[in-house]
Amino acid sequence: MDFNQILKEIPQNVRPVFGKGRNADYIPALAAVPTDKFGMVLRTVGDECFQTGDANERFSIQSISKLFTLSLAIGFVGEELWRRVGREPSGNPFNSLVQLEYEHGVPRNPLINAGALVVCDVLLSYTEDAKQAVLDYVRVLSGAFDIAYDEAVARSEARTGFINLALANFLKGHGNLENDVDAVLDLYFHQCALAMSCSELSRAAVHLANGGVSPSLGETILTRAQTKRINAVMLTCGLYDAVGEFAYRVGLPAKSGVGGGIVAVLPGEYAVAVWSPELDASGNSMAGGAALEYLTTVTGRSIF
Ligand code: GLN
Repeated sequence: MDFNQILKEIPQNVRPVFGKGRNADYIPALAAVPTDKFGMVLRTVGDECFQTGDANERFSIQSISKLFTLSLAIGFVGEELWRRVGREPSGNPFNSLVQLEYEHGVPRNPLINAGALVVCDVLLSYTEDAKQAVLDYVRVLSGAFDIAYDEAVARSEARTGFINLALANFLKGHGNLENDVDAVLDLYFHQCALAMSCSELSRAAVHLANGGVSPSLGETILTRAQTKRINAVMLTCGLYDAVGEFAYRVGLPAKSGVGGGIVAVLPGEYAVAVWSPELDASGNSMAGGAALEYLTTVTGRSIF
């Protein structure tokens, strides 16, 4: 497979969707990111790397971080997690309150905001310093020890994150948070404000394509069973209420963020990270989705 050539073709193929989406503007710091950014990195399970565009520029990974916090929480509590959060697609926007009320404070899955807040609560209960634990995890996985929280983005979201405040308070009211609402939100806003590049993200996710073993570290990050489960949750919940459309078009387990990033995995072959800030109505990168669709179409390979 000539990934070099395919990645070279992608920027011109996704150009027609530029200008059709919009940056996330409910987080002021994200509204200010130049809309014409585009980067993509494909990393194989053999640790070969192919890239195009703004592949090494860091951006706000936002909800892609839910993949890493979920992996950490599963490591601490295993199957117990599912007593406090479900694992079914939500069919609703990522910050929906309605469903949480119907379902008595048990979030539909860990990749929507309410579910990720419960995951934060687990991390706060099981670590001395949860913010440091999350940072250490992504630093080790990506091999980039200067990865940091973008405090300006975290502050920007904290100032405007009223819906997340409502979700956290609602969870607390239903007894589904052990820790203080403020501590849970502080961790959540920080994990979303992690700044990473496509290159770093592809390295931090490639164990999910490799049975849980990081090719660069040679270490088991997740068991095979955990890897299957994380990929299954990504496939069914990773793109919120657009998850069916994404599976139809792209056919890979993936996780998106409102910073415009998407990480996707083809088990046995590669992890790929793509970034372009303009979003569709569900909060997923327009050009990112188009690029992944092009990749799986041209290679003729997906999980299906
Ligand atoms: N920080 C964002 C929020 O809570 C993350 C959402 C996302 O990336 N989908 O609204």
